[in-house]
Amino acid sequence: MSNPWGSVNPAAPACSLADVMSEQLARQLDEENNTFPTLTECPSFSDLMLSGEVPDTTSDLMLAQILQMQFDREFDDQLRREEKKFNGDSKVSISFENYRMVHPYEDSDSSEDEVDWQDTRHDPYRAEKPQTTPRKGFTGKGKNITTKHDEVNCGRKNTARMDNFAPEVHVGDGLGMDLKLSNQVFNSLKQHCYSEQRRSAKLHEKKEHSTAEQAVDPRTRLLMYKMVNAGVLENINGCISTGKESVVFHADGGSLEEQPVPDEVVLKVFKTTLNEFKNRDRYIKDDYRFNDRFSKLNPRKVIRLWAEKEMHNLARMKKAEIPCPDVVVLKKHILVMSFIGKDHVPAPKIKDAMLGSEDMKNAYYQVLHMMQQLYRECNLVHADLSEYNMLWHEGKVWLIDVSQSVEPTHPHGLEFLFRDCRNISTFFQKKGVSEAMSVYDLFNTVTGLQIPVGAENEAEFMAEIVALEKRNEDHVQKRRKKVFPFASEDSGPPLEPDADD
Ligand code: ADP
Ligand code: MG
Repeated sequence: MSNPWGSVNPAAPACSLADVMSEQLARQLDEENNTFPTLTECPSFSDLMLSGEVPDTTSDLMLAQILQMQFDREFDDQLRREEKKFNGDSKVSISFENYRMVHPYEDSDSSEDEVDWQDTRHDPYRAEKPQTTPRKGFTGKGKNITTKHDEVNCGRKNTARMDNFAPEVHVGDGLGMDLKLSNQVFNSLKQHCYSEQRRSAKLHEKKEHSTAEQAVDPRTRLLMYKMVNAGVLENINGCISTGKESVVFHADGGSLEEQPVPDEVVLKVFKTTLNEFKNRDRYIKDDYRFNDRFSKLNPRKVIRLWAEKEMHNLARMKKAEIPCPDVVVLKKHILVMSFIGKDHVPAPKIKDAMLGSEDMKNAYYQVLHMMQQLYRECNLVHADLSEYNMLWHEGKVWLIDVSQSVEPTHPHGLEFLFRDCRNISTFFQKKGVSEAMSVYDLFNTVTGLQIPVGAENEAEFMAEIVALEKRNEDHVQKRRKKVFPFASEDSGPPLEPDADD
């Protein structure tokens, strides 16, 4: 039998749902004597739809399918009408395609159908990485080539790009539905956002009479103003320091959740220009506390991790009562903390403090004690300790700048500590503090280790340190494997929770 569906009457017009349902048609179908097709001979539902023919059959299954198909088509026609009515002449149109019962088949072949179907199900416009077109400028083969100019793809990409607009731009539900923005619409939206941001920044600038904020990018500026608007800060006064990795502002504190904020605070803005941060990767990449998260983050979020790290480290130091700034609040890459200084005058760095010999000796013992506390009580190594990151205030040494601080078990933790010891020894010896220990003695005193000092041979001492680190690392890996047998080498979960988490 050549056609299991029997002969098709080519003259018969496609019937409407009402017709199919009519008794007359039912009788007509009943009268026809066609053989019942076996299951294997059944064409697929989509084949049926593609053929555009209404097969002739006595099968209940077929009848149900035809009815369903007809119903679906009418549903989709109705949907199309509603879509049209909904969108009107609007430049931005909303597609109802996802609600359709029957996927477009009229003017496309079946393979395109498939791609269409996968597209909507896979939600490409929501993907982390929007689909990109390879260098050659097109994807696909033969008839199915899609270029980067493909209207649908472009539209979806444009919609996904709205995600990058400033946080205060409400993009609505556009990201959640299959909204396709034309280039023209997208560009004018983008332009509008930029000019709005500039306008709003200008307004605030006038109000604050401050140009200091120019040292940061517009996004950061907006975040800063938001803190003023929210009353966390009364006023942002000016810039204390612009370094390679951060910009520090002085501000008057307001209140946060009904709690008073210190009268004077600083905003440490971690720079979002990424190049300088690249070479600091190793401080954070190998810090198991941040391991898991580091690899998955985009650069902007990595910057936030630095700020977060400083906050956690300061909290540990506070617990051990080491003089350091109090954390007020962390907003993305901006850390607000108490100001070390008075009446807008920041405490001097110890290198600039012009201390008398007695104060200098005092300062040395304080630093020695703090290094021990940091190591033993906070389980931290400062990793950037020097006369630049210690302030002299009210007769005390205050430690700052701890975003890069790591735990001693960090794969390079002891090397960082050795470097800290060298900075401290050198500085105080140069300042004439005769009690200042050699770098080796200082290292052993801080750690409680007894690495033989030998003939002041740094290479040997360093070799010992590196060997220790290696042994420790092996031990940590083993323990991690024991506790988490499926943990990978570099992304194992932390062995202990963060002290302040
Ligand atoms: P960087 O990583 O840029 O060195 P720091 O945390 O060391 O960042 O801050 C830079 C400078 O800003 C410091 O040398 C100090 O002069 C000033 N500073 C930072 N934090 C405070 C604070 N809490 N109080 C007063 N001055 C501060
Ligand atoms: Mg510093």
